[in-house]
Formats: sequence, C-alpha cells, structure tokens
Amino acid sequence: MKISKISVFQVDLPLEHPYWLSGGRLKFEILDASLVKIETDDGVVGWGEGTPWGHTYVPAHGPGIRAGIATMAPFLLGLDPRRLLDIERAMDLALPGHLYAKSPIDMACWDIAGQAAGLPIADLMGGGSRTARPIASSVGAKTIEDTREVIDRYRQRGYIAHSVKIGGDVARDIARIRDVEALRRPDEIILYDVNRCWTRQQALQVMNAVEDLHVTIEQPCETLDDIAALSGKHATPVSVDESLVTLQDAARIARDGVAEIFGIKLNRVGGLTKAARMRDIALAHGIDMFVMATGGSVLADTEALHLAATIPDANCHAVWACQDMLTIDIAGGRGPRNINGHLHLPEAPGLGVHPDADALGTAVAVYQ
Ligand code: MG
Repeated sequence: MKISKISVFQVDLPLEHPYWLSGGRLKFEILDASLVKIETDDGVVGWGEGTPWGHTYVPAHGPGIRAGIATMAPFLLGLDPRRLLDIERAMDLALPGHLYAKSPIDMACWDIAGQAAGLPIADLMGGGSRTARPIASSVGAKTIEDTREVIDRYRQRGYIAHSVKIGGDVARDIARIRDVEALRRPDEIILYDVNRCWTRQQALQVMNAVEDLHVTIEQPCETLDDIAALSGKHATPVSVDESLVTLQDAARIARDGVAEIFGIKLNRVGGLTKAARMRDIALAHGIDMFVMATGGSVLADTEALHLAATIPDANCHAVWACQDMLTIDIAGGRGPRNINGHLHLPEAPGLGVHPDADALGTAVAVYQ
C-alpha cells in the first residue's frame, strides 16, 4: 500500500463564545483547522486534523501546518502509510521540529493503518479500554459567581471533570480556588489551569495559600525551568501541558520530578506515534495523564480518545474535547459525541469518524 495523494482543506471553526485564557491575556474566537485527506493506491482513505488553539496560544498556527505539509508531502508520497515509524522518520528528516504540522499526517496514517487491520486505532496501538472517558470542561477566566455558573451548567450536562482557568490576580485566584473547592462534589476531577500566567513568586504564593486543599495546578509558569524551580517549595501536585512538547521534555519531567501529571496535547506533541512514547514514560514513573485535542472538530477529539483508551483507566484522569465549544460540525453528528459528559471509544476500524466533504469545500492544496 502506498500514499498516492495528499489533499489539504482549510476550515474556520468558530467558537460559540469568545474564550479568554491566562487572566484575559489571550482571547480566542475562531480556530483555523487544517483537514488532511490521504489516499492510497489500494483505495483506503485516511483523515487527519491539525487545529491549533489560535495562533497566540503556543508556537503553532494553521498556515504553519499547511506550509509544513507542503514541505513534507514530496517525502511522503509513495510510502506505506501503515508503516508509522517510516512516516515519522520521513517527516522528521524532511522538516526537523514543527511537530504540530506533523500530527495531521500521523493521524491520517493511523486511520489508514486501522482500517487496513480492521481495528480501531486504540486496539491497533495495543489495546483500547472501553471505559468511557470523562470530558474535561473548560471554565474560562471569570469571577467567583461566573465560575460557579459555568461549572453548574457543565454539571447539568453530566460533566465530572473541569479545567478551571485561573491566573492574573493572586488574591482572586486563591478566592476562586477556595470557592470551587467548597462546592466540589466528591467524584469530581478538577484542574486549575494557569496557562503559564504566574511568575515563580505568584505561583508559590497561591500554591502555599491553598496547600490545605490538595488541588492540582496545571502549567503554573512559562517554562519547565520555572516549574522545576518551584519543586520542594510547595506541596501541590502539578500538571504540565504547554511545556510538554518533545520526548526529551517528558524524560526531563519524569527524571527530575518536575510534575506529577502529563497533559498530553496531540497536536502539540506531533501526533499519536510520539505521544505513545510519552505515555510510556509517564506510566514507568508513576505519572498520571490527561489527554487533549489541542482544539478542533470531533476528529481531533477522537484522536485524543484513542490515545486515552490505551492508558490504564486508573492513570487516565480525563480527556479534553473541543466539539461542544464550536458552532459548526464538519462530521454531521457522527463520531464519539458527548454523552452525559463522557466520550465512548468508537468500534469502527481506524479513527472511526470522517468529515463531510460538503463541509470542507475545495482543497487548498493537493500533492500527488
Ligand atoms: Mg492546560
């Protein structure tokens, strides 16, 4: 089986509500999605998606994905898409770095490999749990009252996992954490996500002030150096997502005890092939995981769900999915959808969901 054609589509995915992160520093309204269709000489077709969370969030943007694919495509045509390691090496040789541009290609090839094997991707990766994964809500930076209201809205839809965005004002952050914890239900999984907003000093102020609550803080500061510098000065478990990019990052975090949780963002780390190695480093070092689509449609959510299914139930806290935040649906309701705050692994071979051709328009680039 050989890759015979790669087509790239661009779609704007508007968010239902404007979204702020990091104490209001970053605002998002529309996501720039790249959908990639890979066709083979055998007639099997795979789909991938790369949708960064805007272009200001982390070093990744829609035009960069499309430019990266233009550079890599000549090195991919003719390769067997089922040989994921060959695909990975071809991409890494053609274009060092730029992991976010590689994830949609990796995803489409896993989709093809799964279809060819007659297995869902998670089973092809070694075996997927059928335990439904809780979806983490996204509770944007707000006042105490707004935070209560948004979490309650999610609770009514069955959500038990929440990512509460904090940062921007130390006193307000402490007050919001205390209020959310006071109303927290026993089965709830809550991350307080700072999105890199705190200085080291602010991080220690908040983490020490809420030490009695045993909360988990995500990405408190900008870099791994910053987060490592906090080690030993507080007793709060830390999750790292935006600074978890390469396998070397994962190895450092595990070896040096920089964090207790990995937040694996599939687009950020370059797709399932690379993410699976991070999963194994985490499991070997007693580190639990959240798995996240960096943004995007049900395709990106489904990719995250496949990886999450390959993590033992006890070590996978939740998945983050973007589908409920968008005003358009490129897959007509198909694929894993929010059922009472959870996603269920699809049983169809491959990814388990493909987009509607009508929703994508004409390809912006075709390589063959
Ligand atoms: Mg985060």
